[in-house]
Amino acid sequence: MIELTDIEKRFGDNVVLHGVSARIAEGNVTALVGPSGGGKSTLLRCINLLEIPTSGTVRIGEEALTFRPGHKVGWASVQKLRRQTGMVFQNFQLFPHRTAVENVMEGLVTVLKWPKEKARERALALLEKVGLAHKADAWPATLSGGQQQRVAIARALAPSPRVLLCDEPTSALDPELSGEVVDVLSQLAKEGTTMVMATHDLRLASKIANEVVFLEAGVVVETGPASEVFGNPQRERTKRFITTLT
Ligand code: ATP
Ligand code: MG
Repeated sequence: MIELTDIEKRFGDNVVLHGVSARIAEGNVTALVGPSGGGKSTLLRCINLLEIPTSGTVRIGEEALTFRPGHKVGWASVQKLRRQTGMVFQNFQLFPHRTAVENVMEGLVTVLKWPKEKARERALALLEKVGLAHKADAWPATLSGGQQQRVAIARALAPSPRVLLCDEPTSALDPELSGEVVDVLSQLAKEGTTMVMATHDLRLASKIANEVVFLEAGVVVETGPASEVFGNPQRERTKRFITTLT
């Protein structure tokens, strides 16, 4: 279970998240949707603490941290919580001077101190899972965008995080290449991987997500099962957003 309680995030005077609360059950896929600038990426980054919330509580499984203004939280506890998560970015962010398999192994070897052979074995199994066993020794620059994103997904999954966070995982890809990434994500969803995904792509969201959080201007406007929020939105604002995009 992931629980966000009253998360506020300010950048200077700019309040970007106004006390956001959300619960994400194990095995659920939650789509974060809403207009540009609404705070989707910031909220994702508050879950893995790439951004430190100004205030509020982040709980992932048994690990929880509460933030207050002017109250420093120790680096070790930030790391502990962050390790419960894996992150996939819009622009892949692979290490360019590492092959596909080395990208997937990297965190296992350097952070978790796994022996290289064991890390390589797991990395190869994950590449196989995303359909890229044959590209294990390829350099990122020689891979298509869709292939790079699939390596990035394998890398994020390597340490078996409790939750996979995806920020616009298909936005940098043309429709043909985004299809192969959607297929991998939907396979993971079927296997019960807990995911939180910020996306503009409502087709992707309705295909994969079973829960939706609609965020606008740092406020949760509507939340609920995907079939209800997409099929029968209760709020006027959500209705308008969905009809303009579909
Ligand atoms: P998009 O759909 O365009 O990806 P988003 O919903 O992901 O948008 P965010 O990127 O979270 O929105 O941005 C929310 C607000 O926070 C914006 O006003 C943005 O300018 C501001 N913001 C985000 N990151 C920072 C930062 N590091 N410093 C200052 N302001 C920031
Ligand atoms: Mg964003």
